[in-house]
Amino acid sequence: MTSRLLLALLLAPLAASPLSAATPARPNIVIIFTDDQGYGDLGCYGSPDIATPHIDRLAAEGLRFTSFYAATFCGPSRAQLMTGCYAARVGHARNPGPGSNWGLHPAEVTIAEVLKQAGYATMAIGKWHLGDAPEFLPTRQGFDAYLGLPFSNDMWRYHPKMPPRENEDALMRATRERAAYTGYAGSDSYYPPRGGFPNDLPLMRDETVIETNPDQRQLTTRYTEAALDFISRHRDRPFFLYLAHAMPHVPLFVSEKFAGKSARGLYGDVVMEIDWSVGQILGQLRRLGLDERTLVVFTSDNGPWLAYGIDGGSAGPLREGKGTIWEGGVRVPAIFRWPGKIPAGRRTAAVAGNIDLLPTCAQLAGARLPSDRVIDGRDLGPLLTGASDRSPHAFFHYLGGSAEGQVNYRAIRDERWKLHVETGRDGTVTPRELYDLGADAGERFNRLAQHPEVAQRLALAARDAAAEMRAHLRPAGRRASP
Ligand code: MG
Repeated sequence: MTSRLLLALLLAPLAASPLSAATPARPNIVIIFTDDQGYGDLGCYGSPDIATPHIDRLAAEGLRFTSFYAATFCGPSRAQLMTGCYAARVGHARNPGPGSNWGLHPAEVTIAEVLKQAGYATMAIGKWHLGDAPEFLPTRQGFDAYLGLPFSNDMWRYHPKMPPRENEDALMRATRERAAYTGYAGSDSYYPPRGGFPNDLPLMRDETVIETNPDQRQLTTRYTEAALDFISRHRDRPFFLYLAHAMPHVPLFVSEKFAGKSARGLYGDVVMEIDWSVGQILGQLRRLGLDERTLVVFTSDNGPWLAYGIDGGSAGPLREGKGTIWEGGVRVPAIFRWPGKIPAGRRTAAVAGNIDLLPTCAQLAGARLPSDRVIDGRDLGPLLTGASDRSPHAFFHYLGGSAEGQVNYRAIRDERWKLHVETGRDGTVTPRELYDLGADAGERFNRLAQHPEVAQRLALAARDAAAEMRAHLRPAGRRASP
């Protein structure tokens, strides 16, 4: 089959191909999104001590990206996946905490809304983190159903840096002991808000809290069971499942099935359980005959949280981790599998990111993108089918966290080079460090002095991109009433 025919099949809207009349042209879509899992934490990305046979099989049967980008931390990365835009573009370059009075703007058109309008059944399972007030919940952003935690699993009264209290219970004691063991107790890299998080952790079904402080050892299992149930119930129609695991974000919890199973300690056990979950989902798709009708995407929301020592992941050969615009902070594993449409066993270094998921899925579903706003992402269809090995992006932009209405522009890359910059209040962009990512993905050798012409070219592109973004920012959503 030629790549052109493959592409035509992949992008055919609604109409079934005569070659496969029984197979709808529109695939089911499953996006598995892990939390704080590093670039180096999977077997197929070179982990020396975490066995991930199911995820490795996903890669062997699909396409593995080696230059795929998320945002620097949790909420912004989810905003990107949902909207197809850089997080700063949609006012969401920070994390809403429990009880926050803001969230992803209801007028944003999410990937779930795009697919729902195209006739897909939609469900979100797991972490949301785009606002926990009713008007910001998944069920208000295109998901028919939701099960999960509306924010991070450490945003609760058992955060290790909560002020000590008398008569603490066993869980709080264990939490503090773990923080001391991993070194996090002595870390000054992150503090909860003044006074900590006083709240319990709500497990929600749709818009109702069904439990508080659920046993986190069972979260991965429960989310997986809900995913299998959703797939089974919607086997006869196109569906979109967004499975955003709480793990391996700290505090780490694992069920009995995997406790003590990994050579990498608790963190490895937790990733092994996520791998098991992937295996369960692949098994369900195969049992139901949905393999060739389903695109499965596996990726992570940001790099490893290194301040947690052995409870944080590994960025493998990349520099630094979560919260930074070094490669280890934002470059994440990404695997796309769709048997019969995406050729098996390929790898690509083309630059792509989670901003591309919405345009890509819209194209596959035969759905229209909103035309009244800037969408930063691009369709990855030609890359997936092998019709092209070129990135649809001339540049990727590295943005740090920022307040709403601000653009914290930090670095830019093209196919080969990455320029770190300092951006002035007046919009000036000053080159700081230049790395040849083609030869030096670990960003160890600053080549600025050797290649001033490359730095100049990228600095101009960075200046223009930052100016364009500042001119086309959209607001976060605010609560109508307190
Ligand atoms: Mg995260």
